[in-house]
Amino acid sequence: MAKRMLSEAEGYELFQKYGVPTPAFQIVTGADEAAEAASEIGYPVVMKIISPQIVHKSDAGGVIVGISGAEEAKKAFNGIVASAKEYNPDAEIHGVIVEEMAKPGLELILGGKTDPAFGKVITFGMGGTLVELMKDVTLRILPVHESEIRTMVKEINAYPLISGYRGMKPRDEESLIAIITGVARFFEENPNVMEFDINPLRLYESGACAVDARIIVD
Ligand code: ADP
Ligand code: MG
Repeated sequence: MAKRMLSEAEGYELFQKYGVPTPAFQIVTGADEAAEAASEIGYPVVMKIISPQIVHKSDAGGVIVGISGAEEAKKAFNGIVASAKEYNPDAEIHGVIVEEMAKPGLELILGGKTDPAFGKVITFGMGGTLVELMKDVTLRILPVHESEIRTMVKEINAYPLISGYRGMKPRDEESLIAIITGVARFFEENPNVMEFDINPLRLYESGACAVDARIIVD
């Protein structure tokens, strides 16, 4: 079969099975439905385009955060669909995902790819658009034991931001280790998964939340 990208919702559901916390979400196909979903989830919400042809949703005007009322939700639905159509007139629009808005946290990236020589490889690093430029990333070839993941987390240059830097409170490193371990097991147990990323995973003083998920299957 040809490679295809799962939707963010499908990604969240798969990752949840492996212990990755995600926002509550609903998929909608109309403006009124978007407002209903938002009130069920609870304001503020985030809304994003669902289209297999749009990989970087923000680039397409396909992400709106901080939506705080019904009128705003309806406007956001129409705005997101219009922007996506303008960005790529050929894109199939499957709807819009309405999500719980996660609180700010330390933004990290978890990823996986299939290397022709080494096979499945997982990566971990700092997230955020500016930090991505610095390529502060570490990787492991699968299979990988939890003890190796503990070491891996400490390898990035930004590790002090996790362990507690200059009086900042430490982040939940144990949750992070459990999430990377879960994600590694997800990759091993699903042979049709070629590539994935969680960009970003927000890490808190207690717990974490994935606020994006991209999985490529073959
Ligand atoms: P893209 O496809 O452009 O990577 P994302 O789904 O990562 O789109 O959304 C872009 C940014 O919006 C994220 O990096 C994050 O900062 C913010 N964001 C997305 N979803 C949420 C959410 N549920 N709660 C809070 N912030 C979010
Ligand atoms: Mg993203």
